[in-house]
Amino acid sequence: MTITINAAFDSGNIVVDSIDGTNARLSIRKDRESDFFQWFHFRVACSAGDALELAIGGLEASAYPDGWPGYAACASYDREHWFRLDTSYDAGTLTIRHTAEGDLLWVAYFAPYSMERHHDLVASVAECEGVTYRCLGTSLEGQPIDCLEMGTGDVQVWLYARQHPGESMAEWWMEGALEKLTDPADPHARSLRQKCRFHIVPNMNPDGSRRGHLRTNFAGVNLNREWDKPSAERSPEVLCVRNAMDESGVDWAMDIHGDEAIPAVFVAGFEGIPSVTVKQSENYQTFQKTLSSNTPDFQTRLGYAVSAPGQANLSMSTTQIAERFGAVSMTLEMPFKDNDDLPDSAQGWSPERSKLLAHACLVTLDQML
Ligand code: ZN
Repeated sequence: MTITINAAFDSGNIVVDSIDGTNARLSIRKDRESDFFQWFHFRVACSAGDALELAIGGLEASAYPDGWPGYAACASYDREHWFRLDTSYDAGTLTIRHTAEGDLLWVAYFAPYSMERHHDLVASVAECEGVTYRCLGTSLEGQPIDCLEMGTGDVQVWLYARQHPGESMAEWWMEGALEKLTDPADPHARSLRQKCRFHIVPNMNPDGSRRGHLRTNFAGVNLNREWDKPSAERSPEVLCVRNAMDESGVDWAMDIHGDEAIPAVFVAGFEGIPSVTVKQSENYQTFQKTLSSNTPDFQTRLGYAVSAPGQANLSMSTTQIAERFGAVSMTLEMPFKDNDDLPDSAQGWSPERSKLLAHACLVTLDQML
């Protein structure tokens, strides 16, 4: 029997170039009005026992060609449990081989986090004791930019995720953070809610998320290059969040992301901003040290190159917030692949580990304050 492949759903993205029996040749659609592509998410209707071979081509032109060597595709039968598939990469083509164990297989770049699940998360957290819901604005396609606020303290903490919509691990991290912070029995959550006022934006790019983009919003704009000059025309998602930050001030900020190439969890900071202070830098270094002692899934050996003094790019949120507010601000990067220091061959980096990392980050913040 011939398989069929479909991606006409929330965060779906695949182009079917040809199908021959249980073999398919596929490619990835570019983000609207941009050249970025890397995210894929589709379902395969097949028969249990089929030897599937799914070849995604043209990847030498993808956003991060270095993301493919050593990468294994994610899959699920029930859309709850995600595991890795036998995957190889050669000359721009990612080849996935799997013997079907059911009649419907879901395949994605990383375990997806749908807009429907986002609304379930926002609804359940908004109902919790002591939580205030705010809509900060709307995206270019009119979707709400949701913000959940909680805590009675003076330390202003902003957590925000999915400026890059294909980095779905970022919203799994958010689900973990929100579950912990709203657990009435959790001692670190209780302590943090006394010390801090939390402002949490689980998804800054709902249009890109629903459209199955990797990196941009509806207008093809990379939101994490808009923080020095957000506009209602190009980047209302950033404008409304930055305006709300201007109202509250910011002491601590975490921007949650995924990295295609590096097989590790790491942070990027605000080195190179014009007004950096010793105290701000020390707090950032201490956060990293404390987090690495709190979880073996975090490390400081691998990461991005640091900007030279005065050379920071202030269009990015982490640097803009550090410069604008004097905040301890950081970009947290989780791998699409795995943490190679502590690999899991069945799941790789996963929703479950993203959520546990959020717990460790919050424990660390509590210890720091
Ligand atoms: Zn990113």
